[in-house]
Amino acid sequence: MQKGKIGVTTENIFPIIKKFLYSDHEIFLRELVANAVDATQKLKALSSTGELKGELGDLTIRVEADPDNKTLKIIDRGIGMTAEEVDKYINQIAFSSAGEFLEKYKDQLNGIIGHFGLGFYSSFMVSKKVEINTLSWKDGARAVRWECAGDPEYVLEESDRKERGTEITLYLDDESGDFSSKDKVQALLGKYCKFMPVPIAFGKEQEWKDGKYVDTDKDKIINETNPLWTRKPSELKEEDYLDFYRNLYPMQEDPLFHIHLNVDYPFNLTGVLYFPKIKDQMEITRNKIQLYCNQVFVTDSVENIVPDFLTLLHGVIDSPDIPLNVSRSYLQSDSNVKKISTYITKKVADRLEEIFKKERTVFEEKWDNLKIFIEYGMLSDEKFYERAEKFALLKNTEGKYFSYDEYRTAIEPAQTDKNKKVVYLYTNDPVAQYSYVENARKKGYDVLVFDCQLDAHFVNLLESKFKDATFARVDADFIDKLIQKEEIEKPNLTEAQMRDISTMFNCVMPQKDAHYNVVVENLGENAAPVLITQSEFMRRYKEMSALGGGMNFYGQMPDSYTVTVNYQNPVIARIIEDKNKRTSSEIEAIEQDLVAPKAELAAIRENIKDKKEDDIDKSIRDSRDELQKKIEELEASRRNLVESFAKDSDLLGQVVDLALLSNNMLKGEALDKFVKRSLSLL
Ligand code: ADP
Repeated sequence: MQKGKIGVTTENIFPIIKKFLYSDHEIFLRELVANAVDATQKLKALSSTGELKGELGDLTIRVEADPDNKTLKIIDRGIGMTAEEVDKYINQIAFSSAGEFLEKYKDQLNGIIGHFGLGFYSSFMVSKKVEINTLSWKDGARAVRWECAGDPEYVLEESDRKERGTEITLYLDDESGDFSSKDKVQALLGKYCKFMPVPIAFGKEQEWKDGKYVDTDKDKIINETNPLWTRKPSELKEEDYLDFYRNLYPMQEDPLFHIHLNVDYPFNLTGVLYFPKIKDQMEITRNKIQLYCNQVFVTDSVENIVPDFLTLLHGVIDSPDIPLNVSRSYLQSDSNVKKISTYITKKVADRLEEIFKKERTVFEEKWDNLKIFIEYGMLSDEKFYERAEKFALLKNTEGKYFSYDEYRTAIEPAQTDKNKKVVYLYTNDPVAQYSYVENARKKGYDVLVFDCQLDAHFVNLLESKFKDATFARVDADFIDKLIQKEEIEKPNLTEAQMRDISTMFNCVMPQKDAHYNVVVENLGENAAPVLITQSEFMRRYKEMSALGGGMNFYGQMPDSYTVTVNYQNPVIARIIEDKNKRTSSEIEAIEQDLVAPKAELAAIRENIKDKKEDDIDKSIRDSRDELQKKIEELEASRRNLVESFAKDSDLLGQVVDLALLSNNMLKGEALDKFVKRSLSLL
C-alpha cells in the first residue's frame, strides 16, 4: 500500500473546487461519464489497430445509484489504469491541472462555457470520498484501488478487481446526497449524456406485471449512440428529422425547415438546425440550440458562438473546435468561432435561397412564420442582408408575395413620383387603416403589409437600401401627396387668411398638449376635407423609441400632427364661406385699422435697420414698441373673432372630429361631444 500527497503545488484545492463551482455541481456526472466514454473509445482504437487481441466483450457503461448509502458508481469496461497511470494521471496531472485551472479562472468561472474539461476532480464537488477501482487492459496488469477523502492525502493499493476497466465510486457529501436519487441521476444523464457514443445503462427496463411496473432483466440504455447529426443526410428521411426535433423539444410545434450542417475543414462541425415556427414576438424562446463537443452536451446557451439572430433557431451544433475553457467574452474574438459563425450564417442563407428557388409555394406558405427571423437577420447582419435580399418576400394587402425585385418592377410604373422616386406604400394595420388602403388601391396603387413589431426598424432599413425609393405609410397624408405626380398648386390665400384657417382648426382640436401644424392644399373636390397625420419621420422615431431603440429624446417629444385642409372640398368651402359671412365686416374694419400702424412700423424699421438697439433714440424705440403692441392687439381681436366663430361652427367641429375618428384619436369627452352633435345634426 502506498500513501502520499497528491500533486497540488499551491494550496489545498478541495475547498476551492467546492466554493467556486458551487452553482454547477451537477456537471461532475458528465465529466466522469465522458472519461468512461474516452476509456472505452481508446480500447476500441487499440483493438482496431490490433494492439489489443481478443474479444472486447460488452462495453456498456453502467451508472448505479444507491440512495440508501448515498453512493454513485460509474463503471466502464475501457482501458483501465495501472498503478503507475493512476499515480501519473490522477495524483499528478489531474490535480495539478485542476489547481492551474481554478487559479486561472477563479474570477470568471461562471462565464466559462459549461465548465467543460474540469475532469475527474470535479467529483470532489459533491463527494466526501472518491474511490477508483481499476484494472488496465495491459497484459499482466494488476488491479489497483485509489481512495481520497477530500484532502491532499490519498491511498493507493492493490485490489482484487477481476474485470478490465474502471469503477469510480462517489461517497456523496451531506449537501449532495440528492445525486444518488434515481430521478435526479436519470434527469442529469438525460441532459448531459443523451447522445454520447457508447451505450450507457442506468437501471432496468420495466414492464407492467400484476398491476404494477417491475424491473425486467434488460438494461435500460439512456443514450442514443448515433444521433441524427452524426449520420449522413443521404440516409435520412424528412420523418427522421422531425422525430429528432420532437425528441429534443417535446412541447414544441413542428419546425418549418431543417439544415444539416457538416464540415471538416478548416474546422470540424456537425449539427442540425431547425427553423421554428415563430408566430409572434412573444413566442420567441432563445437558447434552444444545444452545443455538444463530440456528442457530449456542453450548454444550451450559444450566444457569442452563433450570430445573435441565429439563436432564434433550434437544434444541435457539435464541434470540438469551439474553445470551451475560455470565458464567453473571449469567444467572440476567437478565429474559429468567427469562422463557424460565418459558416452557419452562410448555410442558413443557402438553404433559404434553395427553398425560395425550388419550392416557391412552400416558401410563401411559411413566410409569415419565417419573417421575423429573416428580418431580424437582415437588420443585424450586413452579410445576411446581402444574401437575403434575393429571397426575402414582401406581402401586400391582398396576401400576395413578391421578391424585392419583382415588387419594384410591379409598382414602378404607377408609383414613381415627380422626383423619380418609387414610393412604397405600406400599412401596419390593414383594418384600422382600411379607408386609406382603399383610397390608394382606387388609384391603382399597391399597399404592403408591415405589421410586426420589428417592422418599424425594417422599413428604415429597406428605405436606406433601396435605390431611389421612399416608404410611406398609407395614412401619412392624402394619397396624391404621398405619391406626388406633379406640382400641386397652392390655394390663393393671403397670409392673414391662412392664419385664420390655422386658428380655426387649432382651437377645435381636443388634445391641448399636442402641436398641430395646419396646412391648406388643393386636393380636389373628391378628396376628404381634412386629414390629420403624424409626420412619417416623427412617427417612426417614436415607434422605435417605444421599442427601446435608445432614441428616448423622440419618445418624450410632444405629439405633433399635421392637419391638412383640402381647400377644394365643398364642405371646407362652406365653412370658409360661413366664416366670412360671420366675420368679414369686423375683419375688414380690423384690417383697415391695421393699415396705418403697419405702414408706420415698416417705415421706422426701415430707418433703424442698420442701427444697433442701443444707438436708437428712445423716442423712436418707444413709438416702435407702441405700434407693435397695437398691431398685436388688433391681431388678437381678429383671432378672437375667428375662434368664437370656430367654436360655434358645428360643421367645422364635425369635419375635424371625423378626421380624428378615422385616426382613432377621438376619445373621452371629445367623443361624447361628437356623438351628441351628430345626433342633433340629424
Ligand atoms: P482529462 O479527462 O481531461 O484528461 P481527467 O482529470 O478527467 O482529465 O482525467 C485524467 C486522466 O485520468 C485521463 O486523461 C485518463 O488518462 C485517466 N482517466 C480518468 N478516468 C478514467 C477512466 N474511467 N478510465 C481510464 N482512465 C481514466
